[in-house]
Amino acid sequence: MGKLEELIEAASEAIINSTLTLALTGAGISVESGIPDFRSAGGLWSKFDPAEYATIEAFRSDPEKVWKMLTEMDKVVSAARPNPAHIALGELERMGYLHYIITQNIDNLHQEGGSRNVIEYHGNSSTLSCLWCGKNYRASDKRDTIPPRCDCGKILKPDVVFFGEPIPADALNRSFQLASSAQVLMVIGTSAVVSPANTIPTIAKQNRAKIIEINMERTHLSDTITDIFLQGKAGEIVPALVQAVKRKGGGSPLM
Ligand code: NAD
Ligand code: ZN
Repeated sequence: MGKLEELIEAASEAIINSTLTLALTGAGISVESGIPDFRSAGGLWSKFDPAEYATIEAFRSDPEKVWKMLTEMDKVVSAARPNPAHIALGELERMGYLHYIITQNIDNLHQEGGSRNVIEYHGNSSTLSCLWCGKNYRASDKRDTIPPRCDCGKILKPDVVFFGEPIPADALNRSFQLASSAQVLMVIGTSAVVSPANTIPTIAKQNRAKIIEINMERTHLSDTITDIFLQGKAGEIVPALVQAVKRKGGGSPLM
């Protein structure tokens, strides 16, 4: 067995022996679906600097400008399909070995990949709200005009968390609670630098969870709190890990 296979075996063992397993996912899990992360060279984020376009101040002061970025992002996201990593996590949940996904992504690909217990830490782009009168709309009902406008005339904002906005209270509280009692946390495709999502691995570790990290590159977690680092593409590693759980656990979890 190669080193990676041994590590995958060890990770599958930890998952089988855990009664509460979480996955924290970031932009990296959707890269193989065609949505670039913040770090990839080229693509969306080299054209639109998130520091300039993805802040709530930018939206309030010039929503038309921010919608130039949102329109391009919407094109990329609506063309994306779940990749083998999303699908394998859906399967792991159905097998009873994955209890919740906490995702920083707004692309809906976990749900499309068959996952049900998904906590959207940074919201979802499929609904829009008016910052001025509070009315909500489905994005699909507002596709005909860009930027989409509220009945009150103001430009609508997608229900994703911009830099400078608070995390939805429900997602924040549930994530904190779950991280405090998890036995295994899989950290997949996130650089874990965006706060406060990056506190989740630390909270879990302090409560003695095993940290399994899956990433193409090492992160600041890899040398500090990660117990098992599985280096590679999420679309390859996650299915391999789920296969290992299947072989060993035979689809019957502890509870
Ligand atoms: P990030 O861009 O900071 O980091 C992505 C991480 O994924 C990096 O560590 C990179 O090495 C890793 N990675 C890249 N491709 C990978 C692959 N194929 N397999 C495994 N790992 C891979 O992303 P972040 O930590 O999620 O923070 C960025 C913020 O922007 C988050 O809030 C994120 O949700 C948001 N964002 C979301 C999307 C989306 O919804 N798909 C896309 C871009 C950014
Ligand atoms: Zn309005």
